[in-house]
Amino acid sequence: ALCIWGGTLPSERLLYILKTYQPTIIWTSPSYAWQLGEKAKKAGIDPKTDLSIRKIIVAGELGGSIPATRKAIEDLWGAELYDFYGLSDIFGACAAQCEYHDGLHITEDQILVETVDIHTGEVLPNGSVGELVYTTLKKKARPLIRFRTGDIGWIDQTPCKCGRTHGRIHINGRKDDMFIVSAVNVFPSDIEAVVHELDGITGEYLIRIFEENFTCRYAVEVEKNADNPETDEEVAAKLSAALKARIGVKPAKVKIHPDGGLDTRSEHKSKRIIDERTLNYDI
Ligand SMILES: [Zn+2]
Repeated sequence: ALCIWGGTLPSERLLYILKTYQPTIIWTSPSYAWQLGEKAKKAGIDPKTDLSIRKIIVAGELGGSIPATRKAIEDLWGAELYDFYGLSDIFGACAAQCEYHDGLHITEDQILVETVDIHTGEVLPNGSVGELVYTTLKKKARPLIRFRTGDIGWIDQTPCKCGRTHGRIHINGRKDDMFIVSAVNVFPSDIEAVVHELDGITGEYLIRIFEENFTCRYAVEVEKNADNPETDEEVAAKLSAALKARIGVKPAKVKIHPDGGLDTRSEHKSKRIIDERTLNYDI
């Protein structure tokens, strides 16, 4: 096998490499997998038929474990997507999805994964949602004990359909990204899932968190597909209702941009959350 390191090459160069060498696997972030596929289509390349990608491994963001995001990327590329989780402080390969995509199998010979209460640090029983903490088991030079990752999730020790007996982690979101609206914990990953499930929009989005009358609110901005005949108001109403159904609280505002109108595509790891609050909220 030949490995081509792409790093942060511009997408035109990456598409040239994909077309010329026809690799079968790519490894990237979920947002960039999505953007690169969209850019390919705009350049007249169909990722499904003109390229040979069969498997996409993603890391660095949550998307690979959000079913709607995974499906959107898989449909775009005609490939199977695997989520991968590594932490350079702990171990390069902490956990990865198997062919059943139901959580990420932990490399239990290298690390011990536990969940702790985000307020008290108290260790929780397996299956409870809390902050995931990692302990290195084999590192001799720089061991770490209960390293707090900031990831919120839970541990599943039931046997997986694939037959592997390693426990699996399920990650719900980042502690720093979670915000509270009307006493409801809102994870940007839930908003992303809704945006990727809804027809007629590109899948790009921006979340703004702000205060109004001393109350935390959120706004969502999306792009309407160029061929979508619905009015902006219709798209906004649909998105608002879908967010209310999934999360429990409606966005204060939905803004619709034309295709390509959101400036979130420039980086490999997209910044899609803008927190405009002036107060620091502890959770
Ligand atoms: Zn499995």
